[in-house]
Amino acid sequence: MVTEFNLKTPIGYLTGVGPHRAEVLNKELNIFTFGDLLHFYPFRYVDRTIFHKINNIDPYALGVQFVGRLINYSIQGEKRSKRLIATVKDNTGLAQLVWFQGLRWIEKSLTVGQVYIIYGKPSLFNGQISISHPEVEVYKAKRAERAFQPVYSSTEKLKRLSLDSKGISKLIGVLIELLKIEESLPPEIVNKHNLVPLKTALHHIHFPKDPTTLALAKYRLKFEELFILQLKVLKTKMASSNRFAGPVFEKVGAYFNLFYKKKLPFELTNAQKRVLKEIRKDTVHGAQMNRLLQGDVGSGKTIVALMSMLLAIDNGYQACLMAPTEILAQQHYQGLKSLVGNDIAIELLTGSTKQKLRKEIYSSLEQGELQILVGTHALLEDKVQFDNLGLAIIDEQHRFGVQQRAKLWRKNTIPPHMLVMTATPIPRTLAMTLYGDLDISVIDELPAGRRPIVTVHLKEDQRLRMFGLLREEISKGRQVYVVYPLIEESEKLDLLYLEAGMEALEREFPLPTYKIGIVHGRLTPKEKESEMDRFAKGETQILVATTVIEVGVNVPNASVMVIENAERFGLSQLHQLRGRVGRGAEQSFCVLMSKDKLSKESKIRLETMVRTNDGFEIAETDLQLRGPGDIAGLQQSGIVDLKIADLTTDQQLLQMVRTEVMRIFDEDPSLEKKENVLIKTLLTQKSGGIGWEKIS
Ligand code: ADP
Ligand code: MG
Repeated sequence: MVTEFNLKTPIGYLTGVGPHRAEVLNKELNIFTFGDLLHFYPFRYVDRTIFHKINNIDPYALGVQFVGRLINYSIQGEKRSKRLIATVKDNTGLAQLVWFQGLRWIEKSLTVGQVYIIYGKPSLFNGQISISHPEVEVYKAKRAERAFQPVYSSTEKLKRLSLDSKGISKLIGVLIELLKIEESLPPEIVNKHNLVPLKTALHHIHFPKDPTTLALAKYRLKFEELFILQLKVLKTKMASSNRFAGPVFEKVGAYFNLFYKKKLPFELTNAQKRVLKEIRKDTVHGAQMNRLLQGDVGSGKTIVALMSMLLAIDNGYQACLMAPTEILAQQHYQGLKSLVGNDIAIELLTGSTKQKLRKEIYSSLEQGELQILVGTHALLEDKVQFDNLGLAIIDEQHRFGVQQRAKLWRKNTIPPHMLVMTATPIPRTLAMTLYGDLDISVIDELPAGRRPIVTVHLKEDQRLRMFGLLREEISKGRQVYVVYPLIEESEKLDLLYLEAGMEALEREFPLPTYKIGIVHGRLTPKEKESEMDRFAKGETQILVATTVIEVGVNVPNASVMVIENAERFGLSQLHQLRGRVGRGAEQSFCVLMSKDKLSKESKIRLETMVRTNDGFEIAETDLQLRGPGDIAGLQQSGIVDLKIADLTTDQQLLQMVRTEVMRIFDEDPSLEKKENVLIKTLLTQKSGGIGWEKIS
């Protein structure tokens, strides 16, 4: 009987697996099919071609191999602390081997005077190299097979079924002989990028001969994985840009020109100009724009938003701007009003808009009299009906979901152009991967004359230095934020900290010389607004706040940001908070207060903040610390599910692959050509990156 095996064959059919092992493989490693096992790659390799001399062993290495003669061994200790200690020696020194378990069996296998090959993770004990639970085998002159060895992750349950790393490797050996592995990429691509054939790559990823074959195998598999990912992303993008007609903003008219020539209070940065051009280009040809605008805090996104809205208005359309919080919407509204004065009909709609005004807004919006509507989630309500919405802008995108974006789409018969602005500088690679349906613009330049913010990290016993800085800045007429963490799980305790901190500040900065305001989530929107207002007008010099001020707030006279318990904030949050200062021409400061003992990660976070002001560098570090699953509000990991490629380290490759995929779609959008048959197959494959269902 001939049985056809393929990638979908259940793992239980593999020789050496069987129902019980299959079940445990399902549960422990998510391996259900032959394909799953084939793509279960080693997580590292040990180079068993290299032998060290004992006196050259790096005690911090992950694993070392050496040859030594057993001089003696003995069992020491009582009961639970019983251990077997052996001494081995080469011509450079002595090393110790230690076992805590299976002593009797180990003892039997050891012979004094015998030469062994020893492998394990070294450590330093009493000044001597010591290895606990090493792999030990009798030395034989011939060692042809001891090449590069794969290490697979395994679990206790699997190990009990003899499926440790070695056991898994054996299974894969059997599997690879059984399967017919066919090339998955078209020959032109394989040749053009010097890829090794898929079959070779899979062999070498599991059984590499040497570092070179391993590197080639990895490259090929990463290429393929990113290739499939980009096929899917760009396909979605094509679909969305083909499907929807969009408003045509054919002219640049009086509103835009008047503002640009007469009212704009400063010269636009080159980056702002470039982004405006990109937006203009996107809105003239009758297809809907879907654009993500990234710009570090303070880079001047608002003005770009406003000028895009003026383009819409010049062409007889309405525009809206949605912000995630009441405070921010309020601020946008006031900012825009002060920029365009009475030239444009502009209103604010939030949860706390009075019923009477609300009704007026609804009706003037429907009649098309209202030109710009600024607001919060309130904009999404069904009652909000536009006459002719041409452009919808969302500020601080990560607070809103895809659902909400879609709701705005439906506010017009043809979907409005969408501009999504974010100050969370998502690393470009990740943005390309996750927002395949969005084009990306970047404002990568701060307005001229900004001085980099000076950031310091102080511990509790240096608190007086912080107070000193505040006194000095306030005496110069500047203002100060003091921010406390407040998270739901520990809300009560956090509020206590906030109050205690407030009291300490009031003692240090007493009335009537100093006035302190406070803003936190327990206040009503009205109360918050009035506190923020007092601070914005300079009536209070110190604003104590929880993270409600994180997003967008703009008080250019504020020059110090103190962050209490800074170790509890994430990197992007710290960066956002710091961005609240440094908005004027004066020197600004950020003080990170933390406790004395810090975890390794907290240390890296705070050091990064002290080292750099560059949002993209910070985002990259954040990505490395947290992994891509956490960025951009995509909390559940597993959205980007890559087996071998790494979005942080393989950016260059991703860029290249993306260009390649774009070329293919350019030449053959529906993949009809003969040479693209394989590509079409890849596109329908289930594996390869993004769990779309988790995103949209
Ligand atoms: P963000 O990108 O964080 O939203 P804003 O749009 O709030 O930044 O801009 C920050 C500050 O910089 C504002 O006070 C704004 O008026 C100012 N600004 C924006 N563009 C420029 C420019 N080209 N030159 C000088 N100042 C600018
Ligand atoms: Mg902003």
